Amino acid sequence: MEANGQYANSKPCHKNEKHGCGCREDVPEVMHRPYVQTGYRRIDQPLYYYVKSVFQRNNEAGNFWTHFLPFLYFAQRYIRMYFIYGNVPYALPFYAHGIGTCYLLLCSSFAHMLSARSKTSCQCAFAIDFAAIYTYGVGMKVPLEFYLCPTQHYWDVSSSVALTIFAVYCACALAASFYASENSWKSAIALSIGLYVVGTAILYGSCMLRYFISDAGFTSVEPMDTYHVSQAVGHHLSLHFFEQLLYLTIGLVFQASNIPERFSSRTFDIFGNSHQFFHLATAMAMYAQSLMLELVVIEIKGKYHGGHFLNDELISMSLGETIGQFLLSIVLTHFVVYLYWLYLRKGEKPKTS
Ligand SMILES: [Zn+2]
Repeated sequence: MEANGQYANSKPCHKNEKHGCGCREDVPEVMHRPYVQTGYRRIDQPLYYYVKSVFQRNNEAGNFWTHFLPFLYFAQRYIRMYFIYGNVPYALPFYAHGIGTCYLLLCSSFAHMLSARSKTSCQCAFAIDFAAIYTYGVGMKVPLEFYLCPTQHYWDVSSSVALTIFAVYCACALAASFYASENSWKSAIALSIGLYVVGTAILYGSCMLRYFISDAGFTSVEPMDTYHVSQAVGHHLSLHFFEQLLYLTIGLVFQASNIPERFSSRTFDIFGNSHQFFHLATAMAMYAQSLMLELVVIEIKGKYHGGHFLNDELISMSLGETIGQFLLSIVLTHFVVYLYWLYLRKGEKPKTS
């Protein structure tokens, strides 16, 4: 029926002049979405054309809103959380997750809004989106490190060193993904996701699985005892953890399979295509993570009185170790994006598909 994300024997595309949209062949190849034939915005337009376009009928408006509305939700949620828990050390890792979540959703929304301006703006917009995915990863790892899976519990490495290693690893993986984009964005995305999963699995995967599988009663290994999460709360954490995995899996299946648009030419070009389902599934996964982490914060809050923990339970979380690690990853990954932008500007245009 089709090859390389394109339908064979496609009917001629009728431009939607009213909404200023064109067809697949009207835009550079790097902007082509698999199986999406219509709804492509014009290139080389002024900025306001692209801002206005998110309120119009085209193939990126849905991608914008499926991450921008979750951004608004998470922004108000974490601001509300800040007023509830305040500026206390034990909540800092939770806030790092909040900043990472909002930053990724915002970058993704704006990448979809502005990507159609030119070939270079498309590559740069999604390069920043990739960087935000990695910094979000660090924003997620900060609470895991301090709340549930401290690396030093397994290896002789402090939390700060482990997080710095992960931030540097993310920057290197990002650089490798950009290098792979010389062949195609598809291979860049595959490499990016692959390296991210490998890095996460090495640093945290075994700990997380051991923690949650033991809570579910599948092994006789004791759950992590470092932070005294009660069994009842631990059980709820497990539910949110597996809920998050389920949503991520659903999202990746949609993204990788291009369902439903691969089965019906043009029907899902504007609404209901796989990338929109992918966005919604990732937002749901973020919500499950956020609920999971908030449970830990509530648990710790109950043990925190007057700047100290009861039962000599001391958790050292400084601004530098938590939000600082997240900012370090922002600087490193965006420096890689900057180098990539310089490379594009030099005119050594990567081949894309
Ligand atoms: Zn997207």
